Order: sequence, then structure tokens, then C-alpha cells
Amino acid sequence: MPSLNDIRSTFLGYFESQGHTVVPSSPLVPRNDPTLMFANSGMVQFKNLFTGTETRDYTRATTAQKCVRAGGKHNDLDNVGYTRRHHTFFEMMGNFSFGDYFKAEAIPFAWELVTKELGIDASRLLVTVYHTDDEAADIWKKVAGLPDERILRIPTSDNFWQMGSTGPCGPCSEIFFDHGDQYWGGPPGTPEEDGDRFVEIWNIVFMQNELFEDGTMRELDAQSIDTGMGIERVAALLQGTNDNYATDLMRALIEASANVTSSDPDGPGSTHHRVIADHLRSTSFLIADGVMPSNDGRGYVLRRIMRRAMRHAHLLGAKDPVMHRLVPALVQKMGAAYPELGRAQALIEETLRLEETRFKATLDRGLKLLDDELSALPDDAPLPGAAAFKLYDTYGFPLDLTQDALRERERSVDTEGFDAAMAEQKARARAAWSGSGETADAEIWYDIADEHGATDFLGYDTETAEGVV
Ligand code: ATP
Ligand code: MG
Ligand code: MG
Ligand code: MG
Repeated sequence: MPSLNDIRSTFLGYFESQGHTVVPSSPLVPRNDPTLMFANSGMVQFKNLFTGTETRDYTRATTAQKCVRAGGKHNDLDNVGYTRRHHTFFEMMGNFSFGDYFKAEAIPFAWELVTKELGIDASRLLVTVYHTDDEAADIWKKVAGLPDERILRIPTSDNFWQMGSTGPCGPCSEIFFDHGDQYWGGPPGTPEEDGDRFVEIWNIVFMQNELFEDGTMRELDAQSIDTGMGIERVAALLQGTNDNYATDLMRALIEASANVTSSDPDGPGSTHHRVIADHLRSTSFLIADGVMPSNDGRGYVLRRIMRRAMRHAHLLGAKDPVMHRLVPALVQKMGAAYPELGRAQALIEETLRLEETRFKATLDRGLKLLDDELSALPDDAPLPGAAAFKLYDTYGFPLDLTQDALRERERSVDTEGFDAAMAEQKARARAAWSGSGETADAEIWYDIADEHGATDFLGYDTETAEGVV
């Protein structure tokens, strides 16, 4: 059974043999792009090559890119622990053509890699194309010999990618694997498409057009290819499961989590272990790339992910900090492919230990407050905004952590009330500052409060270039 590391080598090796330059993953914090929170797809580091504002000495590249999807247009934070195929941190493998080859080569490459190099059973695969893209449908038919009913035409934005509100765009094809009718779910384009049966493994974007402000499009002179394949999803199917968390790598982390909390990895706390394993990866990789927990910006996203994991560890009965004790298992599994993890190991462990120590001081009391508030309410009433704000302000519970805790009980938060409480606090602070003469400091304080207080904090970068959709 190929391990995750084997699959990465197979992918990069195949494209290298097809004339692609193997380019290392870029850091999770995008360089020169303050509008994008984290690298969330393989194309991020190549944006300027697609728009033509930059050229390099290669026109074909392949990567395994570190991605975090915990904010902005792509936010999978709330999927973790609930779906079998989403992580906040994952690796996206891709091949790229910058004005070099197009559909007629990209599709055969993909088919050969999937069915020959990886040896995936062709009869379990189906593909989608954008509904008007006859060209792609014809190539799939010719190259893969798929019957029409397994080349699905999709009219939605799922199969039409655009870099932003203007710029390169084009139709895409996605490859799905059918895990079998023992699982619930329907093929893409049906209402049951988000089930566990049909899983999207690869997205291939044909950058064919340029979109202008007035909504018109023209054909690009240099047509390009951008693809993204989730390594954990491919590992799952090659290891005979439809559950990313049952793969060699994630399983090792889940077992480490079970060890340090002396609990059963598959018992009633299994969801907690999945969340911990996932969040351990995103937090460790973010710290290795220079993000530190803080109360605003990227650092606040990191803090939110860390604290979510810490609440789950707490629910497993952990009395002392445990997250830092899981780092060696991660370094052991991923340190060879990502040496920055080993280099930052001491920093990651110390940052996790300090954060967990600090959060533990208020976590118990915050959870008790939450219980007390809920028991005083009618069964299905949302948690009042003022209570959520108190948890945030006094006990260090990010709003989404409170929401995560409530979701387990099928309850919600009055987010408007939370916003109102936040606005009130800001107004009080402003009044207190006025006349103090310390305007410069006050401005900074407002900026921080504005950012880390906003409930729509995750709506960071909806208009900026992002990866495959
Ligand atoms: P989905 O519809 O399943 O959420 P997506 O269409 O959002 O996936 P893309 O943006 O097309 O995903 O990313 C390219 C590939 O990266 C996907 O085909 C999938 O294999 C993988 N991928 C995307 N999001 C995740 C995630 N959160 N965790 C693991 N793999 C992912
Ligand atoms: Mg998605
Ligand atoms: Mg999709
Ligand atoms: Mg997709």
C-alpha cells in the first residue's frame, strides 16, 4: 500500500519525466500578497506567471504545495471532524503549464497518472466538464474511453474557475472516485453530491479566457493549465478507505492523540482525535512558516485553530497541556518532506505548550459558564450574544470555538447580539480614550479591536486570486 510520501514522489516524478520542473512548496504565508491570508492552492505562488507579468526559465512546473483553508473564500475549518475528506491543512499536488501545453495534453497526463502510475481502477472514476466545454468532453472520451454517462456536464461555478473578478479564467474538469454503494452520496451535480460515496480527487483548470470588468471575455493568447490533487484523498483511496483520517499519516497522529490522552482512538471521542490530528498539522506548519498566535490577522486565525484543538483535548479529559507532545509524531511522518518542521520543532512545541497552559487557566470556567447559560435557556434558544461576548472577552473563547462547542449540542449563537456587544465595548473604549492625548496608541488599539473582534473576520479575501475552485 503506497504511503502518503510514496504518492508524493510518484506524482512529482511522473511530471518531472514529462518535462516539468519540480518547484518546492511556497511558504503558507504568501509573499507580497497581504490580501491573501494563507496559500490555499498550488497556483498561488505562480499567479504572476499566469497573468504574464512574470516569466521564469520554465513553462512547465509541478509541486506539492502546503495549503491551509481556514479563512476567506475557502474555509474548511467547520468541515473538520464532520466530513471524511476535509482538512484545514493539506497538501495539494499539481502540474502547471504557463502558456505551454493545454487540454489536449493535460487530460492524457492526468489519465495516465491516475490509472497507470497510481493504478486506480478506471471503472471507479468519473469526470466532470463545464457544460459548454465540448472540447474537454471529447478529449476525455477519446483518451479515457469513458462512456457519456461518466462524463458529467456541470453548469455551475464548480466547473468554471476565475482568478478574481477580472483576469484569467476558464472551464475546469474534476475527477471523482466512486467509493461504492455501501456509502451514502450521489454523483457531482446531484443534491447528494456532498456524501461520502463520490469524492473529488483532482481539479484541472483550463485557463482559456480573460475576464474584464464589464463582464466580457476574450480568448487568452497564452492558454495555461493549473491543477490540484489532494494527496490525503488519493492516499485514502489507494489505502482502501474513503476516510482521509484512516490513512497512514493521519492515523499515526490520531494514535498519538489517543496515547497522550489515554483514550480510545476509535471510541466515543474519535471526533476529538480527528480534530486534534488535523489542527496539529495546521498549527505546526503555520508556526514553522513564521506565524505566531496573536489577537489579530493571521496570528488570530492560528490562535483560533489552536484553541479549538485544545478544547477537544480537554473534552478527552486531558488535565495538562498535551498538544506539544504530539509534535514528534508529526515531525517523524512529515519532517523528511518538509525539513522546516524539524528546524522549528522546539519553537512549535514551546508555542503550543505556552498557549495551552494559558488557555487552560480559563477554559474550565468558560465551559462552565457556557453550561450554566444553556441550562437557563429554553431547549432550542440560541446562546445570547452577551454570553458569547463574555466568553470571548473574559475567557479567551474565539467566537467560532463557542460555535463549535454549541454545534455538538445542535445549538447556535446570536451572532448579531455578539456583534452588538463588541460594538458597545469599542464605543466605551473610544469614549475612555478621548481626551487622553494618546491618539496614536488609541488608533492602534482600535485597529486591533476592529480586526479581532469582527465576526466576519474570515471574510478576508473574497476578491483576490485564489487557487482552483
Ligand atoms: P471539495 O469540493 O471537496 O471541498 P474543492 O473543489 O473545494 O473540494 P479544489 O479547490 O478544487 O477543492 O482543490 C483541489 C483539490 O484539493 C481537490 O480536488 C481535493 O482533492 C483537494 N482538497 C481541497 N480542499 C481540501 C481540504 N480541505 N482537505 C483536503 N483536500 C482538499
Ligand atoms: Mg471545498
Ligand atoms: Mg469541489
Ligand atoms: Mg474542485
